[in-house]
Amino acid sequence: LAAPDGTTRPTIFAEMTALATATSAANLGQGFPDADGPAWILEAAVEAIRGGHNQYPPGRGVPALRRAVAAHQERRYGLVLDPGTEVLVTAGATEGLTAAVLALAGPGDEVLTLEPFYDSHAAAIALAGATHTTVPLVPGPDGFRLDVAALEAAVTPRTRVILVNSPHNPTGTVLHRAELEAIAVAAIRADAVVVTDEVYEHLVYDGAEHVPLATLPGMRERTVTISSAGKTFSLTGWKVGWVTGPAALVEAVLAVKQFLTYSGGAPFQPAIARALDEGASDVEELRTSLARRRDALVSGLTEAGFAVVVPRGTYFVCADATPFLTAEMPDGAAFARALPHLVGVAGVPVSAFCREGSATARALAPWVRFTFVKDEATIAVALERLQRLP
Ligand code: PMP
Ligand code: GLN
Repeated sequence: LAAPDGTTRPTIFAEMTALATATSAANLGQGFPDADGPAWILEAAVEAIRGGHNQYPPGRGVPALRRAVAAHQERRYGLVLDPGTEVLVTAGATEGLTAAVLALAGPGDEVLTLEPFYDSHAAAIALAGATHTTVPLVPGPDGFRLDVAALEAAVTPRTRVILVNSPHNPTGTVLHRAELEAIAVAAIRADAVVVTDEVYEHLVYDGAEHVPLATLPGMRERTVTISSAGKTFSLTGWKVGWVTGPAALVEAVLAVKQFLTYSGGAPFQPAIARALDEGASDVEELRTSLARRRDALVSGLTEAGFAVVVPRGTYFVCADATPFLTAEMPDGAAFARALPHLVGVAGVPVSAFCREGSATARALAPWVRFTFVKDEATIAVALERLQRLP
């Protein structure tokens, strides 16, 4: 069963990981860590299983996790939330995002995203039957930046939701406060809800500051914030995420979520509650180690001949592969599909995060995304192989 727009094709991540496995390539494609999160958090889940946390948890999530999410938002960002009504636990950020879009937008509504965008954002908009509009992120010396004039032009009276993602997959951009303020002004002008995907909230480098949209003036009451434990604690397979925001919006998301999974992850929820309460030093260690791996990947790619935009957040570096393109391999999509065969390295074409045929897809056609959330040896092997590119 394929949706009319083909959203049930295998994702680009599944395709590139399958290709990497088939060719024994160093997999810098799909963004998942090759080392599990802290042993004490794994142990907490084992204890929860032994302790009988194996049946359906409450639909909103176990109280300990909802309290821990609220405490985290207050400690870190000064956002005060009622864990009873303003926090909802979901099956990863993916379910939270899809449920939020399904709850808030339908046929005739426009949902505005940045472009490039994370693949599930576009799929959720298609599933909702809403119209997907976009505003470009443009590469430059200061990273991929929001085109604020284009944002103002893209917001219409039909814009129901502005779906933001910062720190941003695939570009690694951490939106500046001024860019977020422009989004807030546009949302208020259109009376739109902002749904903000902040799964990389802790993974920022070089002193970059992650500013949650909900902390900007006038935004708490119109913002649905989504995050998850996957990236913060290197536990992407646990699929524990959460949605926070004003009670009425969270209630709307719950109305959809209850029929997607109802609930999930019973033994993982108490373990993640402990991770949020007690895991700050583990997160700091991960951040430091990721910054080091980012530096290695950025300098190796540059040495190999790619033009690289240095990311201030996330797991990802985007690189312009123009010097390697040929008549047979005319763009990043062809290059990324050939690369595992040519030198044994996998990446993901940035065009996979764009609307087919859009101006941004054309502008970013030569670009490829590589991840640095792999052990240093894998990154070193990949870089050594990339130096052999003709
Ligand atoms: N949003 C973004 C921007 C992501 O990169 C990812 C995962 N890579 C997700 C959402 C999905 O998060 P989860 O695994 O918690 O569903
Ligand atoms: N978010 C991960 C990435 O961007 C992939 C997650 C997935 O495979 N759905 O690489």
